[in-house]
Amino acid sequence: MKFNNKIVIVTGGARGIGASIVQHFINAGAIVHILDREFPDSFDVGGNDSVFRASGDVTNSDDVKSFIKGVVTKSGRIDSLVNNAGIIRDNMIWKMDESDFDAVIDVNLKGPWLMCKEIAPIMREQNNGRIVNIASRSWLGSAGQSNYSSSKGGIVSLTRVLALELGKNNITVNAVAPGLIDTPMTRSLPPEVFKKLENTIPTKKAGHPEDIAHAVAFLASDESKFINGQVIHVDGGKSIGANLH
Ligand code: NDP
Repeated sequence: MKFNNKIVIVTGGARGIGASIVQHFINAGAIVHILDREFPDSFDVGGNDSVFRASGDVTNSDDVKSFIKGVVTKSGRIDSLVNNAGIIRDNMIWKMDESDFDAVIDVNLKGPWLMCKEIAPIMREQNNGRIVNIASRSWLGSAGQSNYSSSKGGIVSLTRVLALELGKNNITVNAVAPGLIDTPMTRSLPPEVFKKLENTIPTKKAGHPEDIAHAVAFLASDESKFINGQVIHVDGGKSIGANLH
């Protein structure tokens, strides 16, 4: 899939799945703008004129507004938005702090909403655009994730609503729901928990960030123009149901 000179925004693109999505788009010829809280010293993706980095917080509407303004000033348009930034703060509901509920809903749901709110008028004006939201398989439900699953269920609903609101302007809005992917976020789990989770996947292995990047690129491409408001699970089959063998 070619994205020559297409302007793509990726939130949370400094590491993990986001960095892989950024690399994928750059390899395909796109110009990528990244909004992330911070960039590790090791961050080394793309050349100077194919990737722009901005430090900011997706939950802060001033940061989001000034970032989008900067993108339009530098690149003149926005072809695709990938809402990828996300956090986890897992615990059973009886042990979960209210602040961990608020933080996860803020980053995983309000952040994408703020990004879409600012970008929708620009894409409507262009009469063209692609929005890809990174949900999670756990939007279907996952014990210990009342905050996270709710935020990801919320982003699926947001996807479906915006697909209805923006479709007539040639803008599609879809979601990718990853299963267990090997990233810094999931490697922060105790190794025995990671292994246990891996064992519940029909294919018995965690996915890699590139597995998500491929699905995102497809949904951001011209080829997917008639797919709108959908969720693609990229999870080794985990979303099908219980798997005890
Ligand atoms: P990582 O933690 O590895 O990377 C997430 C990136 O988002 C980090 O660079 C992080 O910055 C950034 N970020 C977090 N909060 C904000 C914020 N408020 N504003 C701007 N940037 C922010 O996560 P993954 O790559 O694993 O996950 C990426 C997405 O995929 C998330 O939405 C996640 O929920 C989803 N996902 C991941 C799965 C997995 O197995 N890895 C499974 C299912 C879904 P900082 O370093 O400052 O936190």
